[in-house]
Amino acid sequence: MTDAAARFAVGARSHAGMVRTNNEDAFVADAGVFVVADGMGGHQAGEVASALAVDTLKGAHATGFVSVTDLERAVRDANSAIRMHAAESAERAGMGTTLTGLVALEPHDDDPTPRLAVANVGDSRTYLHRDHRLVRLTVDHSYVQELVRTGQITEQEARFHPRRNIVTRALGIDHNIAVDAWVRSCVRGDRYLVCSDGLVDEVPDHEIAAVLDGVADPQVAADQLVEMANRHGGRDNVTVIVVDVLDGLDSPPADDVLPAGAVDDGDLPSTLDWADGPGVSADTTRVMPAQTAPATQVLPVTSTASVPSSGPSSTTAAIASRPRFGLPQLLFLVALGAILTVVIVVVVLATQDDPVSPVDTPTTGVVTTVVSDATTVTTPTIAPTSPVTVSPSVSTTPATAPGNAPAGSVTP
Ligand code: MG
Repeated sequence: MTDAAARFAVGARSHAGMVRTNNEDAFVADAGVFVVADGMGGHQAGEVASALAVDTLKGAHATGFVSVTDLERAVRDANSAIRMHAAESAERAGMGTTLTGLVALEPHDDDPTPRLAVANVGDSRTYLHRDHRLVRLTVDHSYVQELVRTGQITEQEARFHPRRNIVTRALGIDHNIAVDAWVRSCVRGDRYLVCSDGLVDEVPDHEIAAVLDGVADPQVAADQLVEMANRHGGRDNVTVIVVDVLDGLDSPPADDVLPAGAVDDGDLPSTLDWADGPGVSADTTRVMPAQTAPATQVLPVTSTASVPSSGPSSTTAAIASRPRFGLPQLLFLVALGAILTVVIVVVVLATQDDPVSPVDTPTTGVVTTVVSDATTVTTPTIAPTSPVTVSPSVSTTPATAPGNAPAGSVTP
């Protein structure tokens, strides 16, 4: 194996944040493995899941990764390890974790170029900082990312969305796990940022870029980013790894040109080689019981309330299927009420006994006739019978209402 450690300078820091008392994030930043995991699950299960993930990656990488397939396999092994541990304890049932980061690949005879492999599952992120620009390499597997992708909210709104903590993929949730993984050239001078959502939910990308641009020491940069997250509120655990590439290609290969976008464009470089794993996982959206801190939520996999059948696209379907009470429903209820009111009035008036002029009472214009007759209540000839002719249901005006006739009379 090559001495991967000599090819990188690394700074890393993890903090519980300003709200939560425990830290469910875990990371490894050593010997060519730079990975962050953000655990989720009650009773400290999140800490167990994230620790299992990074430990599994580190252990597997110690044997030497030569291709992105090795990284994908290690992520799947981590998924299996988490599920196995979850099955051993009721308190750990449903625990899971995100995972993102990069690992150094061993050169091989066919391709001696120094290479890195990047992987992502969930909503932790890996960025590349190059030529004073910060580009996000990973795409979040999250509810709000789907809202952004479909144009329903902006990136800025996503950072404060009340459901920003819902992820659509995570390790530990399902037997099958889809892993975003691909290979990048190892270019001297590149700086990578690997972090949990506790950083990006608090600190805008342009502020992150300013730190990575202005602070040479990766450990100082990591410390400053964590402190910035806490100053912005520290609503979640925050973990930051800053990786500087010291040895590699002198310049990026022609097919590794970053897109001409600004910081925080959220777009993937079109030149990246995506290698999504087979078998898109199902039931990976998790909603954890609400906590005071904005912890990632986990919904039991067996629940049918809002668990999509598969990844992001199913999340969109879930959004669309939620019941809503809109204008059409309101108009329908108003129309229904009006029809019922008319029917009741017509039936009551049509069936009442009119002793004054029953023959003249038409089947249409009943109200006019009755009102006309009722008006004659004050005449001496029909006054004695008038109370009898009035249906109680017609005299619906409250007797005590100001300016209305006494009870038992008919008001026009
Ligand atoms: Mg988090």
